[in-house]
Amino acid sequence: MNDVWDLAIVGGGASGMTAAIAAARCGDRVLLLEKSNALGRKVAASGNGRCNLMNSGPLQYYGEEVFARQVFEKCSRNRVEEFCSSLGIRCCEENEGRMYPCSYQAVSVLDAMKNALRQCHVHVRLQAAVTECTFGNSFFQISCSGEKYGARRLLIAAGGAASPKLGGTESGYNLLQSFGHRILPIRPSLCPILTDKKSISGLAGIRVRCNVHLMDEKGDREHSTSGEVLFTETGISGICAMQMARHLTGGVEKIELDFASRVFTDEHELRRDLQRRRHIFRSMPAENLMTGMLVPKLGFAVMKQAGIPLKGEPADCITDKQIELIIRRMYHYTLQVQGTKGFDEAQVTAGGALCSEFEPATMESLILSGLHASGEVLNVDGECGGYNLMFALASGILAGENGRKDTGI
Ligand SMILES: Cc1cc2nc3c(=O)[nH]c(=O)nc-3n(C[C@H](O)[C@H](O)[C@H](O)COP(=O)(O)OP(=O)(O)OC[C@H]3O[C@@H](n4cnc5c(N)ncnc54)[C@H](O)[C@@H]3O)c2cc1C
Repeated sequence: MNDVWDLAIVGGGASGMTAAIAAARCGDRVLLLEKSNALGRKVAASGNGRCNLMNSGPLQYYGEEVFARQVFEKCSRNRVEEFCSSLGIRCCEENEGRMYPCSYQAVSVLDAMKNALRQCHVHVRLQAAVTECTFGNSFFQISCSGEKYGARRLLIAAGGAASPKLGGTESGYNLLQSFGHRILPIRPSLCPILTDKKSISGLAGIRVRCNVHLMDEKGDREHSTSGEVLFTETGISGICAMQMARHLTGGVEKIELDFASRVFTDEHELRRDLQRRRHIFRSMPAENLMTGMLVPKLGFAVMKQAGIPLKGEPADCITDKQIELIIRRMYHYTLQVQGTKGFDEAQVTAGGALCSEFEPATMESLILSGLHASGEVLNVDGECGGYNLMFALASGILAGENGRKDTGI
């Protein structure tokens, strides 16, 4: 073994880099081990290359949500923002509380983090995949790429299984499990959803703003959200649809898209509008009924699902009864859920290491003192909008500081 470090960190993502900087600023000698050949690959890809770093709105977390709140009680959003500012990252706010670096460049966030790592002399090792960690004689022994390192504290910041091409792996769970930590089942969160082919036929590429409801077998609503849905060749994507993924139970489920509530105050208004359209387009083929209200292909799909025969008859052949069927589909356009696109296409992992086995003020294990975990490896996942990076940063700061005060720049 080479040397004994104050802190060894497994994972050079958002959380690991943050923890390394925070610890080094407290005077620790820090070793940062990253399995791939670059630090922060998810940071660089985040927010479509713009990096949605934080969110100023109400906290929106799942999994052990109370633990997430406790983390932000110990490390407030202001502190996260101050930490970013101490690296030179200035944030600005967009709609729905989404905060981005003012550069709107994810790579500039990564550059700032790398500069800070260099400045506070964190020892970074790339292509260093940690395969085993043990504890004995008051220190941790870390095996990685044929080498062994010793450390007084060990932080597992290895992220989750989402997006393996950007470093996603289950190895963080395995390492924590080897110390006796419990891992809750993992599943993709923020992920495109697969649906039946019929209801999406011809719609790939269309974006629509609507309310989205996840329905269980009995027809009860399990979860609802609203925003933009993007139809794909295999189902639906876009922020709003991706946010549904973590709520899928694996049972027989449907997604209902409500195109009407955004536009019409109630059914009566929609009915009057459709009756008017029937008159306006009376001599045109019935499929034109929705022109100007929905994208034509989507209007066509709604009418098809409503069971309207579209064989070139003029719109004034549409009966009042058929108008009622169209109204129903405008509020309940139904897609049969067939799963998600899996971890390959997921941005975040739901499930993971049981947070209640860690102390939120320091992210230290309640099972083994000196062992810590932070970021996505824990059983916390946030909504889209900056919540996941914000949790990775806040928990990383707490783990790095370990109850001490960051000395700043
Ligand atoms: C395409 C995409 C876009 C996203 N956009 C946003 C966004 O705009 N806003 C937002 O809030 N969130 C976003 N997220 C989610 C966010 O990036 C993650 O939640 C966050 O990066 C988690 O940070 P982390 O440090 O815990 O894990 P990661 O960033 O995954 O870092 C973990 C690191 O550990 C390394 N590692 C794993 N195992 C080992 C091992 N055994 N040895 C050594 N190294 C190891 C991995 O290679 C990886 O670099 C996005 C995710 C993706 C995939």
